Amino acid sequence: MPRPLPPPKRAETIWIDGDFVPWDDANLHIFAHVIHYGSSVFEGIRCYDTPEGPAIFRLQEHIDRLFYSARVMRMEMPYSNQEVTETAIEVVRRNGFDACYIRPVVLRGAGSMGVLPRDCPIHVILAAWPWGAYLGAEALEQGIDVMISTWRKPSPGTYPTLAKIGGAYSLATLAKMEAARLGFAEAIFLDAEGRVAEGTGENLFAVHEGRVITPPLSNSVLGGITRKSIMVLARERGMEVIEQPLARDFLHMAEEVFLTGTAAEVTPIRSVDGIPVGSGRMGPVTRRLQSEFFDIIHGRVPDRHGWLTVVAGAARLPGE
Ligand code: PMP
Repeated sequence: MPRPLPPPKRAETIWIDGDFVPWDDANLHIFAHVIHYGSSVFEGIRCYDTPEGPAIFRLQEHIDRLFYSARVMRMEMPYSNQEVTETAIEVVRRNGFDACYIRPVVLRGAGSMGVLPRDCPIHVILAAWPWGAYLGAEALEQGIDVMISTWRKPSPGTYPTLAKIGGAYSLATLAKMEAARLGFAEAIFLDAEGRVAEGTGENLFAVHEGRVITPPLSNSVLGGITRKSIMVLARERGMEVIEQPLARDFLHMAEEVFLTGTAAEVTPIRSVDGIPVGSGRMGPVTRRLQSEFFDIIHGRVPDRHGWLTVVAGAARLPGE
């Protein structure tokens, strides 16, 4: 049988368990627990090209969430929070990226077979690669068409909803494939009781009668770091921001609906199940929050919240 082709090269080097290894050597044994049972936790972090050099957005919060997710999964981290944080910076530096996406993964490796992870070592991986707009560059301006997924998010108590667990994303994959098959850019999950939860990899906000509303963490949503940042920016501008359960049809009542996430940044939704949201174009609140967010992440305004970690000594090519 032919050996599977390696994935296309996206970076020079990946950090695995304390060593930087070349792309082609970043392999995992087929008996790793994670391959069979999805036992990993991970993060998605963005690094932006700013006038000060590459700058990582809210790095500490992402590493803290990684450690939280590992704790929930009873994975003992073999490295300290500070070591992982510093290594994330080093991965960007060594690969010479100006802007990239950083993917830390903590997983259970090869040990005994079976669900109970006996003698399965914990591996820690930090990879990075350049990644453009997740939902397409035009989505950030034009907005996207979404559908309500036929799949629902499990309720809290059926799985850990606040941790970013690899296995949990099989559901996101199903929902995303369903959306793609039907011609939608993204799927929105309801929670088990039918309240609006979130996208497959994004939190959701609705704007109605001047208020900015997002589902609370108890409604099966991830505590998004972009979500938290947008809430700060909205409140700074004097907007009323509330966390409140949303009925499905509230998405048809709202004047604006948008998604937030590390990958999707701030993406307007222009229709839900074929019904235009408001005028069907990006609304004024979304536009304002998106441009404030972009100004901060791209270093066009002072980093007044201390959200950016500049990658010191990053290699710039001659002439840049
Ligand atoms: N919800 C889910 C399910 C996600 O995977 C993500 C991406 N991490 C988000 C929300 C957004 O979180 P963040 O803003 O921290 O990227």
